Amino acid sequence: TTPAKATTTYQIGTDVTFPPFEFANKQNKYVGIDMDLMRAIAKDQGFKVNIKPVGFNAAVQAVQSGQLDGVIAGMSITKEREATFDFSKPYFTSGVVMAVQPKGSVTKLSQLRGKKVAVKTGTSGADYAKSIQKKYGFKIVTFDDSNNMYEDVMTGNSAACFEDSPVMQYGIKQGTKLKIVTKPAESGSYGFAVQKGKNQKLLKLFNKGLADLKANGTYDKITQKYLGTTK
Ligand code: GLN
Repeated sequence: TTPAKATTTYQIGTDVTFPPFEFANKQNKYVGIDMDLMRAIAKDQGFKVNIKPVGFNAAVQAVQSGQLDGVIAGMSITKEREATFDFSKPYFTSGVVMAVQPKGSVTKLSQLRGKKVAVKTGTSGADYAKSIQKKYGFKIVTFDDSNNMYEDVMTGNSAACFEDSPVMQYGIKQGTKLKIVTKPAESGSYGFAVQKGKNQKLLKLFNKGLADLKANGTYDKITQKYLGTTK
């Protein structure tokens, strides 16, 4: 008899709550586009994953320091990050939008002067806020997850937040009491990331699996399951 091939289990970091990409369902299982893709890719390529919902910034840092093997968390592929991470092929397009109270008086960037803006630590939304902060003269308050960031705007402490457009759109559809008032800025793509120069085998498996899922219709099935649309 041939000895059973040992299956590698990779430790994958993700955000705590970033629907429709990763969130806990009623059974407290992590689901969403990223989670379903990651599991389907693992199945397709014959490896196992252990999902660690540690939060976006923590997941990014844990991969950077080699404590986790990879991160899938609606993570934008950026020039800056490419200095420390190797990214998979892009798998979803996104951009940063500004969201405010639906009936509030602030609807433009130019109305943020002297006000607070909520962002999530370590995100491209936070970087975007920093890049326009001088021009628009607002203060920045940071949160570790999206829910607390939204809450700060809903309670009126912050005048606006910057969030990824597909996530903000989905959240509003699901009942988050906010309104999007800008077109997506800093548009780019999400990628799966590993530490630069490390875990190249995992990266290859991810890319191969992603290509298979795109070819056999699973990618479309997963995105349609959460977004209900054909792209
Ligand atoms: N796409 C954004 C980034 O990469 C936000 C990711 C997230 O909040 N999970 O920074």
